[in-house]
Amino acid sequence: MSITTGPPPVQTGGFAGALTRAVAERLDAATLRTAHRRLHVKALIIGTWYVASFVAVILSSGWLEGILAALSLSLAFAAVGFNIQHDANHNAFFAASTKRLTKANRIVGWSMFVVGADANRWLYRHNTLHHGSPNVVGVDSDINLGPLARLAPFQRRYFWHRYQHIYLWPLYCFTVLEIMFNDVATLVGASRKVRSTKSRLSETTVAVLTKLGFLALMIGLPSLTHPLWVVVVGGLAVMFAVGFLLGVVFQSAHIVEGAEFAQADARPPYQWHEWQVRSSFDFSHGSGPLSRLFRWYTGGLDHQTEHHLFPRLPHTAYPLIAPIVTTVCADFSIPRHVQPSFHAAVASHFRHLRSMGRPTTSSRSTST
Ligand SMILES: [Zn+2]
Repeated sequence: MSITTGPPPVQTGGFAGALTRAVAERLDAATLRTAHRRLHVKALIIGTWYVASFVAVILSSGWLEGILAALSLSLAFAAVGFNIQHDANHNAFFAASTKRLTKANRIVGWSMFVVGADANRWLYRHNTLHHGSPNVVGVDSDINLGPLARLAPFQRRYFWHRYQHIYLWPLYCFTVLEIMFNDVATLVGASRKVRSTKSRLSETTVAVLTKLGFLALMIGLPSLTHPLWVVVVGGLAVMFAVGFLLGVVFQSAHIVEGAEFAQADARPPYQWHEWQVRSSFDFSHGSGPLSRLFRWYTGGLDHQTEHHLFPRLPHTAYPLIAPIVTTVCADFSIPRHVQPSFHAAVASHFRHLRSMGRPTTSSRSTST
C-alpha cells in the first residue's frame, strides 16, 4: 500500500486550477500530517464514547439511567457516521496517493457496518451519485425521496407537498432505517441481475452477516440485562434520533434557498468544481465555543463546500482552506454560500421545502 502525505492534485487552468494550486500551497506535508493526527485522536475519542455508551446501556438500571445512556449512544452513533466512516470511505482518514480507496481507509470505513449500514452501497450512493452530481435530479440520491417530498424544482409536485415543510421533519427520523432497508432491497434487486455467482455470494454473505451482527449488538446483547420490549423500544428510539440528526445535517447543506439544481438530461453549464460550490452551503465559520463544538461533532460538515471540493482531505483541514475557497470564488465571481449559523441553515431548509411544495416555486434552478 502506497501512502503519501502530499497535497491534493493540482488541476490546470481556470477556477479549478487556481483553487487547487492555492490549496496545495497552503497544505504542506507537515500541515496535512497534523490534520490526520488530529482526526485519528478524534476517532479514538468517539470510538471510546460509542463503546462506553453501549456498555452503559447494557449495565443501566432504572429509567433515567437507561434514557441517558441511550441518548449518549445516539449521539455517539451519529458521531461515528459523521467523523469516522465518512472520512474513511472518502479515502481521507489515512493519506492516500491515488483516488483508489486504500486498504487502511476501507477497513476504517467498515465502521459503517457498526452503525447498521452497508459500506459498499454507501460508496456508490454517497461518493458516486451524491458527490459526483450534487443537486442533479435523477442522479443525486439525497434529493430523491420519491413521492414523499419535492426537494428540487424539476421534480413532480403532488398536492400533499404543500405540507412537506411540516411532515418531513419527523420522517427524517427514518433515515437510518431507510438506509438499512434499501441495503437489503438493493441486494435482492441486484441478485436478479446477471453477475458472477462468486461476487453475488460474497456480497450476500457480507450483507447478511453484518446486518445479523448489528441486530445482535443492538437487540441481542442489551436483552441479556433488560426486558425485550424495553430493548426494542430503546433501539428504535436510538435509530430515530440518529436518523433525525443525519437527515437534518445532510439536507441543510444542499436543499436550501439559493442552492442551484439541475436535471440529469440537462447537465449544469459549469465545470465540476464550480458546480460543487453552487450546489453546497457551509453552515458557519464561527470561532465561538458553540460553532467549534458543532464543527467537531459534525465532522467538518459545517464546511460542506470544502468537503465537496476536496473530499479526500481529512475534515480537520477544512477550516484551513475555507478562506482560500472564499478568495478564489470571489476572484472568479462564483457565488460561495455560507450560512451565518446552523439554525439559519435549518430555517432556510424549512423555507425551501415550503417553497417547493407550493404550486409555483421561486427557488433558483439551472437548466441548459
Ligand atoms: Zn461526503
